[in-house]
Amino acid sequence: MSRVFNFSAGPAALPEEVLQQAREEMLDWQGAGMSVMEMSHRGKEFMAIAAQAEADLREVMAIPKNYKVLFLQGGASSQFSMVPMNLLANKTSADYAFTGHWSKKAISEAKKFCDVSVVVTTEADKFTSLPAQNTWKLNDKAAYVHYTPNETIAGVEFHWIPETGDVPLVADMSSTILSRPLDVSRFGVIYAGAQKNIGPAGLTLVIIREDLVGQASAKTPSMFDYKIHAENESMYNTPPTYGWYIAGLVFQWIKRKGGLKAMAEINQRKADKLYQAIDGSGGFYRNPVEPSARSWMNVPFILADANLDSEFLSQAKSAGLVQLKGHRSVGGMRASIYNAMPESGIDVLIDFMKEFQAKKG
Ligand SMILES: *Cc1c(COP(=O)(O)O)cnc(C)c1O
Repeated sequence: MSRVFNFSAGPAALPEEVLQQAREEMLDWQGAGMSVMEMSHRGKEFMAIAAQAEADLREVMAIPKNYKVLFLQGGASSQFSMVPMNLLANKTSADYAFTGHWSKKAISEAKKFCDVSVVVTTEADKFTSLPAQNTWKLNDKAAYVHYTPNETIAGVEFHWIPETGDVPLVADMSSTILSRPLDVSRFGVIYAGAQKNIGPAGLTLVIIREDLVGQASAKTPSMFDYKIHAENESMYNTPPTYGWYIAGLVFQWIKRKGGLKAMAEINQRKADKLYQAIDGSGGFYRNPVEPSARSWMNVPFILADANLDSEFLSQAKSAGLVQLKGHRSVGGMRASIYNAMPESGIDVLIDFMKEFQAKKG
């Protein structure tokens, strides 16, 4: 068996230990005589798996008791509409930070439901910065403030949490959840598609403060109503059982590794090394993002000579470094280095980049 270093932005690499455990349990989960995929979601085995996963996530993220954790489907993209459908209540506007591709999508969906007030935008500098909060124009009539803590495509990340007073803060954490400790009590809603830093595609995590549950209008379809999912412990309909189970294995893996504090130390070290290698290349490689806004999770880098892109990618692939092609809107390369990317993968990538430059620079 040979495993590559997979720098995909999502679905992304999973910890090898988790995949091995899943393989061992594939045909017979702990004596049940069946795979987790074959279990009734209401049977005692799966109920135990589900409860353990939630308990482990609550422990890892130190989620306060007055928050519900929902294991849903539909991806982060469904949350772009579920958030306004559930949080507007009797209000007619919401505040959005426009900092990249994903916040743009969240905004266009929200516009179907309310007046969106864009409180800050970085479109003019092609989403390579994150202006300080004193430049934001928050609106005290807003039902909530939405932002995207890590913009997966441009590779910009907030290393601070916006202050929104009594207005609930909503965060699309798809590509940064579990990368570091987080004060959950600062948020009204946190949501994330699983396929970056949690588990397989198909599961969507929502962490929501209890007082924000139950405000959807009567016409809201049941599947889009947080209250229905909360009351039914995410089992109103068949939940994404296998994804939930794998996410649970990932939460246990994080605990074994020392929790989010340890994750943060490793992630910061990985990112620092890679940015140093890029900045130290004398312009051969370049990251366009303002240093204070650089992401720990997604590191785009552009080759000064774009004609070398395809050679870079094919040689990287031969060296066991895959999925490095950048998003078409940014060009060049992008290394997504979520929790499951070991530090050794960064070292191998940096060595490869130096060798490639020595040959071609
Ligand atoms: C990947 C991603 C999404 C889209 O997630 P889906 O689960 O595919 O809907 C949304 N927001 C961010 C920040 C992402 O990285």
